[in-house]
Amino acid sequence: MSAVTAGVPTLSLVVPMYNEEETVPIFYRRAVAALEQTAVPFEIVFVDDGSTDATFERLRVLAQGDARIKVVRFSRNFGHQTAVTAGLHYARGAAVAVIDGDLQDPPEFVPRLFEKWCEGFDVVYAVRRTRKENVLKRAAYRLFYRLLRRLSYIDIPLDSGDFAIMDRRVVDELNAMPERNRFVRGIRAWVGFRQVGLEYDREPRFAGESKYPLSKLIKLAYDGLISYSFVPLRMVTHLGFLISVVAFAAVVYLLTLRVVYGEHLITGWTSTVVIVLFLGGIQLLSLGILGEYVGRIFDEVKRRPLYVVKETLGFDTATEMALRGSVETQVGPRPAMRL
Ligand code: UDP
Ligand code: MG
Repeated sequence: MSAVTAGVPTLSLVVPMYNEEETVPIFYRRAVAALEQTAVPFEIVFVDDGSTDATFERLRVLAQGDARIKVVRFSRNFGHQTAVTAGLHYARGAAVAVIDGDLQDPPEFVPRLFEKWCEGFDVVYAVRRTRKENVLKRAAYRLFYRLLRRLSYIDIPLDSGDFAIMDRRVVDELNAMPERNRFVRGIRAWVGFRQVGLEYDREPRFAGESKYPLSKLIKLAYDGLISYSFVPLRMVTHLGFLISVVAFAAVVYLLTLRVVYGEHLITGWTSTVVIVLFLGGIQLLSLGILGEYVGRIFDEVKRRPLYVVKETLGFDTATEMALRGSVETQVGPRPAMRL
């Protein structure tokens, strides 16, 4: 490894946290013990994604006692992928690892990822050998990753989430991407470089409930499919083509019956209704698919910032300034005023 600038850590660990108050202290202990094994200077960047419990207070205590701990606090809940994105913006390391804050990804695995990075790989992603969720959820995940792989135009590895280590070059590329609907594991695969997977066993949650209700999971799945695939749009085209061919054949058939054989088809209410309903359904579905893309375009063109930071702990002013790109303004306690 080459020499690094003084004060800049070699390894950064990015941890999104949303209402994980029970997990914070034990996560800190396990992560620090694991990172110390690498024997390089490191930092842990916690991103508090608008927690409503004591998560931030616990993180503050950690940051006060340990200079290697940095905290970015969002003004509200912006979602897991956005929290990871912010962590990548704030991380300074030559290598940056991303890990879930609920101890489902064992911190003890990070040195293994780091070792592979030292060998020269640019992205080392962890591949889940086993999962500890219920059968239904596991089956849904399996199906999704296989579907995504078939439909997308990039090579997204199977059964790998955001748990990975990335080289600075890769992180800089990700940070330069302006897109809003983030699917971090997708853009990570998209940038290329030398990538490799390492198998690990996914643990059950240490405490609390999953912060990914079904609605958020479906949004994530749509983001993955829509952002990295034109297949749904093409399917609409194919379907339209197919139905037109069938319609044309039906016209020829019915006209022949009428003109050549002089038949008057007055029965056929059922077939008419079935056809109308079928076409109506297909049209709504196609509109919906189109809408998914259009909605995302709308979201992108607004060019809003991805997230809003409420406060940060542990960063030096240079880092802060570079990220915010602004001059210092006056902040401080508000005057007490009573009318
Ligand atoms: N998380 C977050 N914002 C959210 C939801 C989740 O920062 O809106 C964090 C959460 O605290 C955890 C990680 O993202 O550290 C993964 O979330 P979770 O464990 O709920 O997802 P699951 O493992 O069930 O897919
Ligand atoms: Mg989890």
